[in-house]
Amino acid sequence: MTFLFVILGLILVTAKFKNGFKIKDCVKEIGTAQMLTAQKKGVTYKIKFPYFNYKDVDSIIHEKIYSEIEDFIKENANRDVKKAKPKKAVILSDFQTFAFNNNCGVSVQMQYLKNMSGKKVSKTVNLVFCYGKLLSFKDIFKQDKIQDLVNAIKSEIKLDKRFRFMLKNRPFSIYNALTDDVSNLENFGIEKDNIIFSFDLSKIFKEKQEFITVSVPKSAIVECFSNVYFNSNPNERVSGEKTSNDTPLEKDERADKPLIALTFDDGPKEGVTDIILDELKKNNAHATFFVVGKSAEQFPDLLKREVAEGHEIGNHTYSHPTTLTHLSPTDIEQQIENNAKIIESVIGSRPAIVRVPGGSANKKVISAIEAYPIIHWSVDTRDWQTHSAPATKREVNQSSGDGDIVLMHDIRPSTAEAIKTIIPELKSKGFELVTVSEMFRLKNINLEKGVVYHKAEIKECEEESA
Ligand code: ZN
Repeated sequence: MTFLFVILGLILVTAKFKNGFKIKDCVKEIGTAQMLTAQKKGVTYKIKFPYFNYKDVDSIIHEKIYSEIEDFIKENANRDVKKAKPKKAVILSDFQTFAFNNNCGVSVQMQYLKNMSGKKVSKTVNLVFCYGKLLSFKDIFKQDKIQDLVNAIKSEIKLDKRFRFMLKNRPFSIYNALTDDVSNLENFGIEKDNIIFSFDLSKIFKEKQEFITVSVPKSAIVECFSNVYFNSNPNERVSGEKTSNDTPLEKDERADKPLIALTFDDGPKEGVTDIILDELKKNNAHATFFVVGKSAEQFPDLLKREVAEGHEIGNHTYSHPTTLTHLSPTDIEQQIENNAKIIESVIGSRPAIVRVPGGSANKKVISAIEAYPIIHWSVDTRDWQTHSAPATKREVNQSSGDGDIVLMHDIRPSTAEAIKTIIPELKSKGFELVTVSEMFRLKNINLEKGVVYHKAEIKECEEESA
């Protein structure tokens, strides 16, 4: 609790410090706010980020976020080696977005706040996109006008009270250091009336682990903009070359629909799996089969058919022990590895996701399977217990909603029977039936190794509360 207050204090101070960046309000001109929260290797992260449902832009934002998280995890791991009792490490973020060029361009500013064993560091990362492409400083500003731009930034720094304080203590050093090296200008963003430049103060003063943002009015630097900045013709590439199929933004229609991932465990089994596959095919639906190695050896053709018809294969151990929690780490790894090898020998690739028997995953199990995302479920049909088609159907009807992962078993004839009505009914309610990996991808949630998932959940941006 105390820790949260400390973090909140840091956020508020930063919010006050920075012009226009209202962290608590999650300022967003375009895009929707999403939240990514998880714990991984001793690091807790809670990342708010924008989502545009435009593949090119979203994937770059994701990539940048994950490299930030991974760097922090590495940094923390190095640090923890030295400490007997490492304290918690937390990375938070918030963002702002601004549209330009009639919404064909967007400027995203991500602000990270990192707390590692009580040491707090802030970082600002700006990303500017136009027609789905990431723009660099050189794309937006004329190279022969750099000196004018630098002069404009210097005048702003002179007027800025925050810098006035620093200049007093460190005469001559600050604005030359900030502006003389052009690479310092790469971290820029676009706002309605200003261009913002974020500077890493630690480059100048080692002890200042923070970024400071300088706003330069666009009116003062009109001459410096390249044509790309003003260009709003979607057929014009950032580089200026025209291409016929250069659509600005690509969109997957299914992402706008409610999604459900049906999952079937313990198969394949002749007389059950094939009926389920028939029903999925009839309804143009896809599902995920968490396969047991011993059964895959017995019915390789069913496994091949699952893949051929567009379904996903998950790893559900080689011999399906009742629980993995009683096994040694080596035995757990063997259960997963042996099954992966069998599946690979039949379909040519290894499953990317794992489901543990009974959904029992303690610390030992998770660390033994840390090479895979671990998929639990949010709706348990209890088909394994009731052996009843009507009961299975009722459970799906009552409990399934957008983002749910539904647990069933393709070894029960009652489940195959229930599926005959479950699938058309879900489709008629407007649900898209997709595989687990597809559902997370469509919801823009990265499936991470060593993390347990119950559901593909998108959390709207909420206010922090202690
Ligand atoms: Zn099972």
